[in-house]
Amino acid sequence: MNTIIHFDLMAQKALSGECLSREDCLAVLACPDDQVLGLLAAAFRVRQTYFGKKVSLHLLINAKSGLCPEDCSYCSQSSVSTASIQKYPWLGEEDLLNGAREAMQAKAVRYCIVSSGRSPGAQELQHLCRVVSRIKAEVGISICASLGLLTPDAAQALKRAGVDRYNHNLNASQRLYGEICHTHTYEDRLRTLRYARESGLELCSGAIFGMGESEADIVDLGLSLRQLHPDSLPVNFLHPIEGTPLWDMGGGMQEVRPTLPPLTSRLTPHKCLKILCLLRFLNPTLELRIAGGREYHLRSLQPLALYPANSIFVSGYLTTPGQTPPEAWKMIEDMGFEVEQTPVSEVPI
Ligand code: SF4
Repeated sequence: MNTIIHFDLMAQKALSGECLSREDCLAVLACPDDQVLGLLAAAFRVRQTYFGKKVSLHLLINAKSGLCPEDCSYCSQSSVSTASIQKYPWLGEEDLLNGAREAMQAKAVRYCIVSSGRSPGAQELQHLCRVVSRIKAEVGISICASLGLLTPDAAQALKRAGVDRYNHNLNASQRLYGEICHTHTYEDRLRTLRYARESGLELCSGAIFGMGESEADIVDLGLSLRQLHPDSLPVNFLHPIEGTPLWDMGGGMQEVRPTLPPLTSRLTPHKCLKILCLLRFLNPTLELRIAGGREYHLRSLQPLALYPANSIFVSGYLTTPGQTPPEAWKMIEDMGFEVEQTPVSEVPI
């Protein structure tokens, strides 16, 4: 079958709520690079149906950096990382409030408060709940928290304090997860997501690509995320940091360290676009956000990623820099898209 017609049929399936077959998913990933424009056009039909040309911006703050006992092999903040990063305990209330104001100025619809660690302690939770109440009263921006593993009580406390959404990524396929982290399990992550959902929090859960996954792993993860059906799906492309185990394995770095053995999932800008299109077909109605590694891996093709995705982070990531808000606004405007505005009802008078 003509490839472009084939991708149009996938878009039709997505729009009618039908799940792509595994063969369809693999065909998206196998799209020849010179036919990616046809694939993007098909994914854009789906994106446009639910999100028009709107792009929602999100801004992250690393509320507590480093010092983590876990061993996630991609993470510069882990117990096994020797990366040279800033390490500090929880930021104070004023710093976190200023971050929320900065998010509003950046035209972000959501402020994402992230802390390193396996799970939040009681005092950390109280501190965050106090800050969240103040942010809601004084700034009025939607809040997503990402604090690691939760108990049901912790999830309920966050909801009561005014947290809107909880982030906890699946990160990898179930098969691969045990290879990239040994201090907690994929099942632990699913349990936290269940507690967050049961407490009434919206869910944000996504992926990291470039960690040695096979094409089958990418499809498995895409199908798992479809089944989970979070409200928001962030897609990270591994930006390997020197001193992390995945850096040592050569993750995504062959172009600058050609002697290293390649991970099976070497990322190119075209590969990143294909992954985003696949996730759009599998999750037509979800907020699909290009997250860490956007600038590093998509490079000059970044604007094209707005055809499948409808959301981006601005002002960088937890330990790596990124596009400034004015640069992001310009990219969006140049593409003929528009920045989504914070709903007026959320802004305090
Ligand atoms: S739990 Fe979070 S902060 Fe800790 S190593 Fe894993 S990803 Fe990094």
